[in-house]
Amino acid sequence: MSSNDFRVEHRYLELPDSFYTRVQPTPLKNAKMACFNHKLAQDMGFHTTNEADWAKIGGGTELLEGMDPVAMKYTGHQFGGYNPDLGDGRGLLLWETIGPDGRRWDWHLKGAGMTPYSRFGDGRAVLRSTIREYLCSEAMNGLGIPTTRALFMVSARDPIRRESIETAAALVRVAQSHIRFGHFEFAAHHEGPETVKTLLEHVVELHFPQLANLAEEERNARWFEEVVERTARLIADWQAVGFCHGVMNSDNMSIIGDTFDYGPFAFLDDFDAGYICNHTDQGGRYAYNRQPQAGFENCQYLANALLPVMQEDTIRKGLQRYEAAYNGRFLQNMRSKLGLVQENEGDLSLVMDTFSMLNQQHTDYTAFFRALSNLNTHGHAPVRDLFVDRDVADKWLERYAQRLENETRTHDEREHEMRRANPKYILRNYLAQQVILEAQNGDYEPMKELIKVLERPYDEQPEHEKYAALPPDWGKHISISCSS
Ligand code: AMP
Ligand code: MG
Repeated sequence: MSSNDFRVEHRYLELPDSFYTRVQPTPLKNAKMACFNHKLAQDMGFHTTNEADWAKIGGGTELLEGMDPVAMKYTGHQFGGYNPDLGDGRGLLLWETIGPDGRRWDWHLKGAGMTPYSRFGDGRAVLRSTIREYLCSEAMNGLGIPTTRALFMVSARDPIRRESIETAAALVRVAQSHIRFGHFEFAAHHEGPETVKTLLEHVVELHFPQLANLAEEERNARWFEEVVERTARLIADWQAVGFCHGVMNSDNMSIIGDTFDYGPFAFLDDFDAGYICNHTDQGGRYAYNRQPQAGFENCQYLANALLPVMQEDTIRKGLQRYEAAYNGRFLQNMRSKLGLVQENEGDLSLVMDTFSMLNQQHTDYTAFFRALSNLNTHGHAPVRDLFVDRDVADKWLERYAQRLENETRTHDEREHEMRRANPKYILRNYLAQQVILEAQNGDYEPMKELIKVLERPYDEQPEHEKYAALPPDWGKHISISCSS
């Protein structure tokens, strides 16, 4: 596999064996490499001259020495209801490696076939959803938002039955950790306090080493606060870029605060506060404007799972951190988007009024803030053109200009910084849809080009202007199936 500069470990196997079942991948037929993330491989400490070698691992026909695949056991709350039967139903943790910079990477093969936790599923992943996960992990990373990553994906000939017959695929997803809030729920509700404690210590040792030397009570308190705050900040970052996750169940919440498990996600095109991207979420539980609340509820589920090993009062205090962490990060994000460095009392109302206006006018969210980051260079027209009612735009621009009078930076300086907070390129549904269609016809070049653009979403990239275009009518209301 060419030159490797990583160390192999499999620390997950140190957990009690109720946390996993050893399962061999079920081979796919004739798996072919679809897309390989060479830059990420390099960060992880290896490089490859022959992508095809890795297709055998993606297709489940070969393992490297040291790989010991397991399906992880966890449970979780799905749409508010507790489900004790969850676990890796189609993914396997292969091993963990440690790169030259000391970073730990879990390798998880998603689409590897059935496991004891597959329930009614077939253990497979389809090409469409695998491409979407690949694209979005790399887009999120480009935006600077914590996320699991895509190392490589294969496609195969096996027919997969969903609403129609689709192509099989598999993704090697990597992350510092694949431990979810749901792992703690499993430990607390089925195993007992000792197991919760063991899991907590495992997570702290591997992922929060800065807390490892504190006395137990203090360490647990600091750790829980940190998890709550990371979750709050993550969701404030999602809100700022208009990302809707779609399935914020507690089994999809990463304990280290990564964006985790991409399904029917969407980035907002026209701003719509109540946008529901998951068409099976009829009640809108995970609508865009409910994500902050959903994140908090997930922290509450985690809190309940920690009750056997922590003082109730400590847990309550930890949970209280959520609101301040969310509000603080959200306001900071919005100030950056508006280019405001001086803190004014009226800033929060300006932000909220801006959201109401965008909601009412169905203004394209990404394009609006990017146009605002070029006001001085390109003038008012690009902003006004995004509005149905230009008078509304003019009034708002006047108010904004007045607010800018409190600022001390030059227009150029401010707009330069704003372009680093307001992406020009975002993974719009229609862009994903286009490259999926090409890939289904065997051409992965459009997907690779889109990834390159999304790696640098804040750069102008004039040669890639077309990727910043507003969605065509067909692309505005693509319904994303949850069956992936
Ligand atoms: P999700 O809503 O995608 O996060 O999945 C929830 C649960 O269903 C997890 O335990 C998954 O492993 C499992 N799952 C999803 N799709 C499949 C599938 N095709 N086959 C088996 N299990 C699946
Ligand atoms: Mg999941």
